[in-house]
Amino acid sequence: AKPAAEEPASLRDGLQKTRTGFVDRLGKLFSHETIPDDIIDEVEEILFTADIGAKIAQRIIDTVEDELSSDEKRDPAAIWGSIRSYCEDILSKHEGSIDFDAHTPFVMLVIGVNGVGKTTTIGKIASKLKREGKSVMLVAGDTFRAAAVEQLDVWAQRTNIPIHRGEDGADPASVIYAGIEKGMAEGADVIICDTAGRLHTKVNLLDELGKIGRVTGKALEGAPHETILVLDANTGQNAIQQASMFKEACDITGVVLTKLDGTAKGGVILGICDELDAPVRYIGIGEGVEDLRPFDSREFVEALFM
Ligand code: GDP
Repeated sequence: AKPAAEEPASLRDGLQKTRTGFVDRLGKLFSHETIPDDIIDEVEEILFTADIGAKIAQRIIDTVEDELSSDEKRDPAAIWGSIRSYCEDILSKHEGSIDFDAHTPFVMLVIGVNGVGKTTTIGKIASKLKREGKSVMLVAGDTFRAAAVEQLDVWAQRTNIPIHRGEDGADPASVIYAGIEKGMAEGADVIICDTAGRLHTKVNLLDELGKIGRVTGKALEGAPHETILVLDANTGQNAIQQASMFKEACDITGVVLTKLDGTAKGGVILGICDELDAPVRYIGIGEGVEDLRPFDSREFVEALFM
């Protein structure tokens, strides 16, 4: 038998802290036959500390207030049902997998600040694609961090996937340009490019990403075909701010939300969906390859509201 540590994590287990820290507490308020008098205060207290973003929190509060003010709907279970369907609605509108067959080669840029799990996510996606029979090329565009290049290299060795890396400190856009050319020459089906995520100045980062986007289109017309933003659920509302910042720099077409395991801030997915007009492609619920899951909104809502 496999040791337990290698078993893929279950989504329900992964979301446990978020469920007990926010959803269960909220659900309890609506689990009695009558509505407690101070319910709005309690709902506010739970929602504003749940890291779901102020806008979403306010909309849920408005939903509850509306239902409380309409006489026939004072049934607590019905109000709880409305909250659940509101969340379901937001998430189901942000579902959709990447069609890697839509273009050959398919060029994907991966963006996000350092530490969110960008390199790991690239490694996991690349190894899934390879198992599906696709030829993949990795491009180490985070030339400011030697460690990031090394780490991507470890994934490349482990999965036996070719990698293009530039000199330390080389211009990231030119490394990506050369990497795409190389991928095309070698007949890669999917070219996955890591980008720099240092955040010492926002303007720098955004300029750099703008340049990378333009250069990618020069290397291959119509590319990038996917620009995926990686966000760390642990950072809570900060992830929403990052989403808002990155969308100024590029056209984000997908999101990966990592580290949902072990955080009570998983509700941040609602705020991210509200902020971005892009689907959540994958969620990370652990460090293993199998712990990066395609996002399924129904499954997610069920694991959260069970
Ligand atoms: P980068 O700086 O954005 O490239 O981040 P890394 O890919 O180096 O990831 C930082 C750390 O987060 C590593 O230790 C990863 O194993 C870990 N990590 C990434 N995704 C997940 C996840 O979904 N769950 C958990 N628990 N850890 C993760």
